[in-house]
Amino acid sequence: MNEYLDPNPERLNPVDKDIERALRPQVFEDFTGQEKILENLSIFVKAAKLRGEALDHVLLHGPPGLGKTTLSHIIANEMGVNIKITSGPVLDKPGDLAGLLTNLEEGDVLFIDEIHRLSPLVEEYLYSAMEDFKIDIMLETGPNARSVQISLNPFTLIGATTRSGLLTSPLRARFGINSRLQYYDAKLLTTIVLRSATILQTPISEEGAYEIARRSRGTPRIANALLRRTRDFAQIKGNGSIDKAIAQYALNALNVDEHGLDEMDNRILATIIDKFKGGPVGLKTIATAVGEDEGTIEEVYEPFLIQEGYLMRTSRGRECTDLAYRHLGKVNLNKGNT
Ligand code: ATP
Repeated sequence: MNEYLDPNPERLNPVDKDIERALRPQVFEDFTGQEKILENLSIFVKAAKLRGEALDHVLLHGPPGLGKTTLSHIIANEMGVNIKITSGPVLDKPGDLAGLLTNLEEGDVLFIDEIHRLSPLVEEYLYSAMEDFKIDIMLETGPNARSVQISLNPFTLIGATTRSGLLTSPLRARFGINSRLQYYDAKLLTTIVLRSATILQTPISEEGAYEIARRSRGTPRIANALLRRTRDFAQIKGNGSIDKAIAQYALNALNVDEHGLDEMDNRILATIIDKFKGGPVGLKTIATAVGEDEGTIEEVYEPFLIQEGYLMRTSRGRECTDLAYRHLGKVNLNKGNT
């Protein structure tokens, strides 16, 4: 995968991570798009503040890079509380979670990224913490072992996941607020690119911003990454400011095609068509054939390719649509059309 387009934050380098933080909106007002979710969340936040209570637990789901972490920071900010950040795979045993929970102040936010990757033991431990703000702690080991129950400060758990289907129903049921983030359209992404360019002090035309936006796979993180790389091209190959021509030049150099599909998107489609007669073919087979992780294909590439109409998910596997054939300039021999 082209590293600049990687929607997976774990693979960002430290400099990119710092810039990503700088570009992160801090208040509801600066967050673009996801209107319905924002409207509801700001009401829930206001009501919780009025009552002087912690906000109900929030589950945010959707593909990577759409703003789940950003929204969590904004919620904590708007509530006027601290946020502690961790992730499912990091919480190895109940003790790790207990340490975090007992250090939360009243109303604080505990953000657990990739919450679908919690171990069953840790997940079960979380239930009473979420429901009654109580946890059991084991004192001593061996024959003297005993457990004591301790009360926690009321807190808000914000769980983020790209795979809500993998959450168990008991965990899902413990979230009072459940929001699914959607891909952004080009207009919203243009607003995000313009805002980010201002923060990066990079002159940009509306058309230049739109060119980047429409090729960003509906994802703000990718839009920001493409903006930063385009800025490099503008500085070295142009006069420092971004217009449509330099944006097109940069995006082509970065192997982002006219429709925003990157190398891996195109490789997935071409592989299904060339090696598997357009499908249906199983996910594992595709992953092996293109040399990409199965989970990444399922969480990152597939949702976008399906949403844009290039791929179908059937009970027998993944199938390319006519649009995919046309996009790659190939003939669909199965259907006898182009
Ligand atoms: P992941 O699931 O991969 O952790 P995420 O959904 O938590 O991703 P964020 O880290 O919140 O995504 O967002 C990625 C970047 O995109 C952030 O730096 C932020 O600046 C930007 N961003 C996301 N959503 C918006 C938005 N609605 N408006 C402006 N910028 C946004």
